[in-house]
Amino acid sequence: AKHAGRNRIQVYSDRMESPSAESLILENDLYKALERDELRLHFQPQFSCRTGAITGAEALLRWEHKGKLVSPAEFIPLAEETGLIVSMGRWVLRRACALAQRWRTDTDWPLRVAVNLSAVQLDRPDIVDEVRAALSDTGLPATALELEITESVVVRESLRAAAVLNQLRALGVGIAIDDFGVGYSSFAYLRELPVDRFKLDRSFLSAIPQSPGDSRLAAALIAMAHRLEVGIVAEGVETAEQAAFLASHQCDEAQGYFLGRPMTEDAFGVLLRQHVRT
Ligand code: C2E
Ligand code: CA
Ligand code: CA
Ligand code: CA
Repeated sequence: AKHAGRNRIQVYSDRMESPSAESLILENDLYKALERDELRLHFQPQFSCRTGAITGAEALLRWEHKGKLVSPAEFIPLAEETGLIVSMGRWVLRRACALAQRWRTDTDWPLRVAVNLSAVQLDRPDIVDEVRAALSDTGLPATALELEITESVVVRESLRAAAVLNQLRALGVGIAIDDFGVGYSSFAYLRELPVDRFKLDRSFLSAIPQSPGDSRLAAALIAMAHRLEVGIVAEGVETAEQAAFLASHQCDEAQGYFLGRPMTEDAFGVLLRQHVRT
């Protein structure tokens, strides 16, 4: 609850009457966020369900605005509407690759970094070049980068998305389907797009172990991933019971508050060094 509270933006609510004025000011400030150096990356560790080892980290964007951390849920939609997501996304990609490569060299640990890609970025003709440049400029091996795309985008724009994602895969980059299983029942995209991983949406986990129906569904999706030879990472693991459930159903990896919250890049560097030493 503390986390959610800190991520809410309440800066204007008592001064402004209308939400449109509020979002106008936010938009104005968002334009300056990059040049003012107000963007931060937080990292959330991902763990092997079998060994407990850290396998990777998801980079999550934060905006430090007037002393508060603004949640991406508040500003990513605005950044997408305005096209700002393109320059922000480029910043995220380069910074995540640079940090991951630094951590890998410091610790000799085969860390993978996951970066969220917006549909707007995927639509840009130069996205493949951008990813290639981020890798070569930072020295991060392509296999250590995973791009997360939400399932809705892949389903909606199946053909075009598949063409771009296949080019990215040809670089050696991994493709993960984010929010896997939420509301999009068509798996036809899997014919055009051999994905590397599914990220099981946290809504499947939230009712485990109370709901036998949800437990069976989650188990079935894990089994399906295995049959398709696609890796699967469960998101939103908040309890020991959920972690035990995932391990007992041979889920590959897990991510969530119970295992590790998103943290600053410095904190993640410390965590990884400790993890590697012990
Ligand atoms: P997402 O990609 O599904 O990221 C997972 C979200 O779940 C993150 O929220 C994370 O902090 C949160 N989370 C992690 N573990 C738990 C848990 O155990 N319980 C609960 N309830 N939540 C958990 P966050 O950081 O607020 O990000 C929200 C969304 O914003 C992300 O959802 C992603 O769609 C988007 N986003 C974040 N960073 C970027 C970025 O760099 N680029 C783009 N395009 N989108 C981003
Ligand atoms: Ca994600
Ligand atoms: Ca489009
Ligand atoms: Ca997700």
